[in-house]
Amino acid sequence: LLEVTDLVKHFPVGGGLFRKESPPVRAVDGVSFSIGRGETLGLVGESGSGKSTLGRLVLRLLDPTSGTVTFDGQDITTARQSQVKPLRRRMQLIFQDPVSSFNPRMTIEDLLMEPMVVHGIGTPAERKRRCAELLDQVGLASSALAKYPHQFSGGQAQRIGIARALTTDPDLLVCDEAVSALDVSIQAQVLNLLKSIQQEQGISYLFIAHDLNVVRYISDRVCVMYLGKLAEVGGSDRIMADPLHPYTQALIRSIP
Ligand code: ATP
Ligand code: MG
Repeated sequence: LLEVTDLVKHFPVGGGLFRKESPPVRAVDGVSFSIGRGETLGLVGESGSGKSTLGRLVLRLLDPTSGTVTFDGQDITTARQSQVKPLRRRMQLIFQDPVSSFNPRMTIEDLLMEPMVVHGIGTPAERKRRCAELLDQVGLASSALAKYPHQFSGGQAQRIGIARALTTDPDLLVCDEAVSALDVSIQAQVLNLLKSIQQEQGISYLFIAHDLNVVRYISDRVCVMYLGKLAEVGGSDRIMADPLHPYTQALIRSIP
């Protein structure tokens, strides 16, 4: 479904007088991987290792310095934004803190409707029905529809974020620290929700988190990112039992 080849993203450093003299930040530095249909690829790495940048490149929210991202056979790195739009419907992002990113003046119903309106999905009546179905699927009562984002806890808000991402029937969900801000028991609930959605719908995930325990719980394969590069890729069990890269070894030693 997704094929990432030699992806590189450099950011220029600061806007200072001597800007030309400082080398750019190599946030993503030659990364290749692929994700099959219905597969979950986990991505771990320390803060600043380039995980979010990679996630945003995959969704073409950022343009790469070089390299390609192919989604369902289409190269999205060279396509114009107008050509990417229909594909964007099929790739959605779930991120850490939905409450602060949602418009506080919009009801949950409006927030769920928005992506469907943007992508021209369904009639108003069908959209309304879909909102109710999705809320039910993520385990929230339909009374939530008339409420506002601040009226929900972090775990509930993440369920709304998931429902919103599902409104366009995506093939790929990029989850960037989707459960990192939640306490452990709520984290497990949301992870299980994501897992069950995958089993029912065969969605692929790029699951980004800094916590290896969380990542291996949900992932078929795990990529370990270190300083913009993939330090190693392997099955979750292999990575845990026999980590090859020194950074992965340190990461596993640090698990309490
Ligand atoms: P975290 O675990 O803290 O979320 P991360 O692995 O997601 O970290 P990124 O956010 O991808 O890391 O950042 C990778 C590097 O790129 C960092 O050095 C960061 O400072 C830099 N960077 C990210 N976005 C930009 C930007 N828009 N402009 C300049 N530098 C950036
Ligand atoms: Mg990040």
